[in-house]
Amino acid sequence: MKDFLYTAHPSRVVFGSGKVASVRDEVEAVGSSRALVLCTPPQRAQAEMVADLLGSRLAGIHDGAEMHVPIESARKARELAAELGADCAVAVGGGSTIGLGKAIALEATIPIVAIPTTYAGSEMTPIYGITEGGLKKTGKDARVLPRSVIYDPDLTMSLPLGMSLVSGMNAIAHAAEGLYARDGNPVMSLMAEEGIRALAEGMPRIAEASDDRQARSLCLYGAWLCGTVLGHVGMSLHHKLCHTLGGSFNLPHAETHTVVLPHALAYNSPATPEAMDRIARAIGASDAPVGLHRMASDLGMPTALRDLGLKESDLDRACEIALSNPYWNPRPIEAAPLRALLQRAWEGAQPQ
Ligand code: NAD
Repeated sequence: MKDFLYTAHPSRVVFGSGKVASVRDEVEAVGSSRALVLCTPPQRAQAEMVADLLGSRLAGIHDGAEMHVPIESARKARELAAELGADCAVAVGGGSTIGLGKAIALEATIPIVAIPTTYAGSEMTPIYGITEGGLKKTGKDARVLPRSVIYDPDLTMSLPLGMSLVSGMNAIAHAAEGLYARDGNPVMSLMAEEGIRALAEGMPRIAEASDDRQARSLCLYGAWLCGTVLGHVGMSLHHKLCHTLGGSFNLPHAETHTVVLPHALAYNSPATPEAMDRIARAIGASDAPVGLHRMASDLGMPTALRDLGLKESDLDRACEIALSNPYWNPRPIEAAPLRALLQRAWEGAQPQ
């Protein structure tokens, strides 16, 4: 067995159908008494439901969460939190809303209670991102790790099917890269394999009946495990490529992860046979990259970057940006095979 160092982040998780009802208890459990509820405009109704549950513990609702957390929106939310005397942020939504909570927590040092409604996993990480002047800066800070997380599958029932599937693939990507992380450990690998297994079982069931509550539960359970892996170990080629494509070419987050994942795994597979075996076992396929590619196309998810709006003429620049910022990867990053990977991902070809 490989040597390892294992450090766990403090984590409090309340999981189950209807558990959103415990939000007031959770706010009190983190030592707070005035919660600012955050959401995007389309999720206002869910936020109002949470606000009602908070009763006298409610400071207000702010429906200003936006993709990529622009600095202006972070400032506005911080000002409002201060004005209302909020001592806690309750984030009801996906990675964008939890990201706004993190932007407040970073300055005001108030705890976050997260109620995730997608599978992106931000609620389990100390990673934050704020966009200023067109550049998304990310960082790590223990203050932004939510102190309590309520996973209630009922709140994911309204997540549209297409978004649910790509969000599930986004979660699988965290676990897949976690399985070959340089700072990986056996506990995170167990969580990663189990997280992929749960999502690979739940996603086809959601595709058949998007109101299947058991399948929704299974996916949210998988998302929790995959998000935990993202929060504990380092990511490599796949996440860096998606960051480049999202940040520099404005491609949608979860869809980009869905398209790139099989190709990034194929690139790394010669250097990571054990991880590939575990991913393949978790999805019930004989080959991890091909199996994930097939799963995406069978379930009607996007499989080509060209369908996400990337121009073929952007591929050289994407490759250059991806090469310009060196980072650890299990297989050295080289220009020609990386460019070939991007070409295949752009065309939607089989991973190889
Ligand atoms: P999102 O939060 O941007 O949500 C996408 C849309 O779906 C929004 O309009 C949202 O309101 C809507 N939505 C979410 N849940 C819904 C539901 N249950 N019913 C109906 N509508 C719903 O998407 P996301 O993929 O969750 O998050 C992506 C963002 O999160 C990216 O900016 C990414 O960088 C960030 N992220 C950060 C981390 C981290 O650790 N810091 C981890 C993962 C993702």
